[in-house]
Amino acid sequence: NRRFLLASRPHGEPTADNFRLETTTIPQPTAGQLLLRTVYLSLDPYMRGRMSDAPSYAPPVEIGEVMVGGTVSRVVTSQHPDFKPGDWVLGYDGWQDYALSDGSGLRNLGPDQKHPSRLLGVLGMPGFTAYMGLLDIGQPKPGETLVVAAASGAVGSVVGQVAKLKGCRVVGVAGGKEKCRYVVEELGFDACVDHRAPDFAEQLAAACPQGIDIYYENVGGAVFDAVIPLLNTQARIPVCGIIAHYNATDLPAGPDRLPMLQGLILRKRIRMQGFIIFDDYAEGFGEFLQQMGEWVGQGKIKFREDLVDGLENAPQAFIGLLQGKNFGKLVIRVSDE
Ligand code: NDP
Repeated sequence: NRRFLLASRPHGEPTADNFRLETTTIPQPTAGQLLLRTVYLSLDPYMRGRMSDAPSYAPPVEIGEVMVGGTVSRVVTSQHPDFKPGDWVLGYDGWQDYALSDGSGLRNLGPDQKHPSRLLGVLGMPGFTAYMGLLDIGQPKPGETLVVAAASGAVGSVVGQVAKLKGCRVVGVAGGKEKCRYVVEELGFDACVDHRAPDFAEQLAAACPQGIDIYYENVGGAVFDAVIPLLNTQARIPVCGIIAHYNATDLPAGPDRLPMLQGLILRKRIRMQGFIIFDDYAEGFGEFLQQMGEWVGQGKIKFREDLVDGLENAPQAFIGLLQGKNFGKLVIRVSDE
């Protein structure tokens, strides 16, 4: 049984040394417990926050503890009345081959699952985040312009496609030509701009001739800088994530631009609202699953998974996620289905 522990807290970008691979014997369930074999492990940007002990909405992983993470697993043996060997289970078992559970926090998916990894992406936490942040805070209306960055990723890809279904003009922002091509040609966005282009701000302005009504914030940094002058009166900004800053060790130097931003929010009556998906919207998950399942089944929402084989590759894949090396929802295939 292999498992990755948090070995040390990163300063800036995480490195391989921050993780330690440990091998233990496979645990055995006692009365009321079950043994799970991890099949898919989700890697997500929030894990950078758990590696740090800075104040957050959730406690950090302690040094020497197993790295946390959403998982899709199969029941190996069970002494729990609600789970049978072979059942698929959605849980939060972290970066390890096997986990013991008393059943709490698990969702039993039954013995037959055609596409279990989707429950970590388009039909799971990231898809749900996109759906609620856009519909509840973004309030999209036909004819409005929406901008979303990390547009080829797990959250951004769903935000843009749902906004299209709601009748918006949708402009993506992504890193590199290939991601931008995918976002327009395969996901059906109206345009996509490469944030690494030297004239990125001009290109974004040209792609938004009517300004921006909804900016779904996934990244912060230079993308938000380019968005600010394009915001329309009564724009909405669901603040979902600021991945461009997750590795920052300090505030950026430069003039204090907060008064400028607050002045803009005031004059243009802009609404900016953060949210933490399961803290704020847990009760909406059933409705989401029903609606998104339908859209995916009808081919109205497309998605892409970036599957990496082998638990041993989790640290590198996670470090790459914060650098934009993933292309689609990043998932580790820990073992065969
Ligand atoms: P993605 O699959 O989109 O992967 C992360 C992507 O972020 C990278 O591929 C990269 O795409 C982009 N990125 C990284 N650094 C930068 C940068 N400096 N500037 C611009 N883009 C950058 O991840 P998710 O879809 O899982 O997450 C997207 C966001 O949603 C994150 O901020 C995450 O923290 C947030 N989130 C928030 C939740 C909540 O409850 N509030 C829940 C789930 C996610 P590219 O190459 O295109 O730049």
